[in-house]
Amino acid sequence: MGSEVKTTPRAAPRKLTGKKQEIDEFIDQFEYFLFDCDGVLWQGDVLLPKVVETLDMLRNKGKKLVFVTNNSSKSREAYSKKFAKFGIPVSVDEVFGSSYSTAVAISRVYRMPPGKRVFVIGEEGVEHELAAEGIPFFGGSAPLPFPDDEVAEHVGPDPSVWAVVTGLDRKISYAKLAMAGGYLRDPDVHFFATNTDSTFPTHGKLLPGAGTCSAPLILMTGRTPTSFGKPSLAMMESIERKYSLDRSKACMVGDRLNTDIKFGLKSGLKGTLAVLTGVSTEAEILEAGEAGEGPDVYLDCLGDLLG
Ligand code: PLP
Ligand code: CA
Repeated sequence: MGSEVKTTPRAAPRKLTGKKQEIDEFIDQFEYFLFDCDGVLWQGDVLLPKVVETLDMLRNKGKKLVFVTNNSSKSREAYSKKFAKFGIPVSVDEVFGSSYSTAVAISRVYRMPPGKRVFVIGEEGVEHELAAEGIPFFGGSAPLPFPDDEVAEHVGPDPSVWAVVTGLDRKISYAKLAMAGGYLRDPDVHFFATNTDSTFPTHGKLLPGAGTCSAPLILMTGRTPTSFGKPSLAMMESIERKYSLDRSKACMVGDRLNTDIKFGLKSGLKGTLAVLTGVSTEAEILEAGEAGEGPDVYLDCLGDLLG
C-alpha cells in the first residue's frame, strides 16, 4: 500500500477570476481530472449550468476524466445511465463509485478466499458491485430470514462470514445491526465501509450519510472500519491502478472539504479545485486554507472553467 504524502506550507485558496489565460494555464497543468459528482456536476436531479460544455471542453483538450463518487447507493452502471439522462456520454468504466471501490478491494486486493461470504448493510449499489466482482454476499436489501424480534437466537459468529460491509442503508434495522455486530465479534472478520460520509445533501437538506450506518457498529464493537471511499488512500490506489493515473498530473474537483479536497491533498495530487455549488462554503474554504487544508483554487461553479 502507498504512503500518505506529507504536505508543505501551502498558499491560501485562490479564486480563479475567469480570465481565459488564467483558466488555460490552470487546466494545462493537468492530464487527469477526477470529478466528484453531486454538488459539482449536479444537485440531485438537477444538472448544474454549463457542465456539458465544460466536460466537452476538457475532453476536446485531451484530458482524461474520472467521475469519483462516494454515493454507495448506486452502481457504476446506474451512474452511467444518470449521465446519459443529462445528455453526457460517460461510460461505466469512467465512473469510480465507493461501492465499486469496496468490491474491487475485496476481490483483487484482499482476495477473499473461496467458500466465504460478506454480510451487507447497504443498498442496490453495494449488491450490484459485489455481484459483478463475483463476491458471495447476504443481507443487503433482502429481508432477514426470521422475524426481527427473534434476532437474538440468530446472532453469533459464523465461520462462513469473511467481512461485514456497510454503505448507506435506508432500511437499516436493529436486527441487521445485531447480526453485523455478532459477526464482527470475531476479530478475523473484516469491517469495511464504502465511505464514512456523515451526511449527504438532498432537496436542500442534509440527510444521514453512509457513516451513520457504520457508526453504531463502531460504538458496539470498538472497531474502526476500513473505508474505500473518499478521502481514503485505498480508493486513490485503486484509481491509480485502474487508470494508470499519475498523481503529479491530476486535479481533484469537488464541493466538500472533508471528502474531496482532503482526498486530493492526502493523495498528493498536483491540484485541487473546489466549487461552491455543494456542501462547503467560501468561508469554510478560506478557513480551511488557513490550516493548510484548503483547495489550491476555487470557483463559484464548474461552468466558470469555460472562462
Ligand atoms: N452518499 C449518498 C447516499 C448520496 O446520495 C450522495 C450524493 O448523491 C453522496 C454520498 C455523495 O456523493 P458525491 O461523492 O458524488 O458527492
Ligand atoms: Ca459531492
